[in-house]
Amino acid sequence: MRHILILGAGTAGTIMANRLARALRPGLAAGKVRMTIVDPSPTHVFQPGLIFIPFGGYGREKLLRDRGPTIDRDVRLVRSAIVAMDPETDTVTLSDGERMPYDICIVATGTRLAPEATPGLMGAAWRHSIFDFYTLEGAEALAYGLDCLTGGRLVINVAPGPIKAPSAPLEFAFLADEYLTRCGVRDRVEIVYVTPLDGPSSHATYSRSLERLLDAKDVRVVTGFSTERVNGALREIHSDDGRTERFDLLVTVPEHRGADFVATAAGLGDARNFVRTDPRTLQADVKPNVFAIGDATDCPTDKVASAAQHAARVLERNVLHYLRGEPLEPAFDGHANTLVETGRDRAMLVDFNYSTSPMPGRFPFAWGPAPLLRESVLNHIGKLAARHWYWGRLLPGRNFLGIGEQMKRAGKRSPREGTDLRLAVAPRRRGTQWRAW
Ligand SMILES: Cc1cc2nc3c(=O)[nH]c(=O)nc-3n(C[C@H](O)[C@H](O)[C@H](O)COP(=O)(O)OP(=O)(O)OC[C@H]3O[C@@H](n4cnc5c(N)ncnc54)[C@H](O)[C@@H]3O)c2cc1C
Repeated sequence: MRHILILGAGTAGTIMANRLARALRPGLAAGKVRMTIVDPSPTHVFQPGLIFIPFGGYGREKLLRDRGPTIDRDVRLVRSAIVAMDPETDTVTLSDGERMPYDICIVATGTRLAPEATPGLMGAAWRHSIFDFYTLEGAEALAYGLDCLTGGRLVINVAPGPIKAPSAPLEFAFLADEYLTRCGVRDRVEIVYVTPLDGPSSHATYSRSLERLLDAKDVRVVTGFSTERVNGALREIHSDDGRTERFDLLVTVPEHRGADFVATAAGLGDARNFVRTDPRTLQADVKPNVFAIGDATDCPTDKVASAAQHAARVLERNVLHYLRGEPLEPAFDGHANTLVETGRDRAMLVDFNYSTSPMPGRFPFAWGPAPLLRESVLNHIGKLAARHWYWGRLLPGRNFLGIGEQMKRAGKRSPREGTDLRLAVAPRRRGTQWRAW
């Protein structure tokens, strides 16, 4: 009997468990294969919905589900944490000391926020004037923080290094502009977006579209600011090149790390505990029977659920190839697509892969219906519907009509210099109310 062990039952681990269980149903029924998934948390969080919590759009009941029913009945769910992994002996150790052997291991333990990595961030001001929104508790606390903001400087600060959902802090800036306008205090609040990158995004075309939007919403952008330390008492953040930004309310996206056990498994991870992974096959460098998927990897695409969804289709086939002793397919192209809420009932859609930055055009078919790199009401409707797609199709590991695992070129066009910029900002309807579904 072959044992497939999945570490982490978040987005990527759950999709993999459900896809593999369907593909291996006869083997599971005949007792030739067994599958286990390990996660300490009883609840699955729909993380993309966290962005709406600080603005009162969603309550926690919209984001949380019991983890058990999200996983195929033929996969054993073990509620425990992995504390160690030994690729030499093909075993992991659980938090209660149990050692669990595997034939194939899929690491899907995502990222961990590491606010402690920035000196001063978690001092007395934490959750008083300094907040995050990448956790449910942080997002809920920030709702109160925002309510108390009647003037001054709202600074959104992204820490250096890879983070999940790199568009989420930009969405926060857009939604904060709308929210503070609705509250009647926008003219008294300066919104400042402070990033370690050279622009709002690492993708050039997308960055230029974002610059136009941020400018239109009067959000000041500070680039190349690699935060070294925070002084909560003086309400200042300091960069490693000696610059200072003052804040009244600081919204931070802290540094990200992979799971702690990755650090102690020789050869498994990089300096930030992300699993060294072949970006095309999703096989880990450490050993052929170890694979990795989702935010846990060091693959050079965005750490987003959609990338995990596309990667899962490739990894499913590669696990089956591995079981049959066949060569793996180098088929994952880093495809990711993200709906970016831009406020006032609009959202922008970006679609890209390892080698192609977001392009203007149409998605998912050559004719559309969704526009790329442009704000639209349709994209906003898609953003609000995403939570239903997530529970109903993405987590069960079902494919989406028209959206392939690899990025399509049909319907896309190379941006002529400046063209996409003029199209990027849609005319505004004044005074629209944002509503959550
Ligand atoms: C604010 C925000 C907005 C976002 N917006 C979008 C968006 O618009 N579109 C999009 O596509 N994506 C978005 N994302 C990103 C998306 O949620 C993640 O990329 C996705 O959930 C990654 O899946 P994962 O399985 O790799 O990690 P996760 O879903 O985080 O799952 C990791 C799992 O591993 C478990 N785990 C961790 N350590 C251990 C251990 N030692 N032992 C056992 N289990 C462990 C955890 O409990 C967790 O359940 C957003 C994320 C945030 C925070």
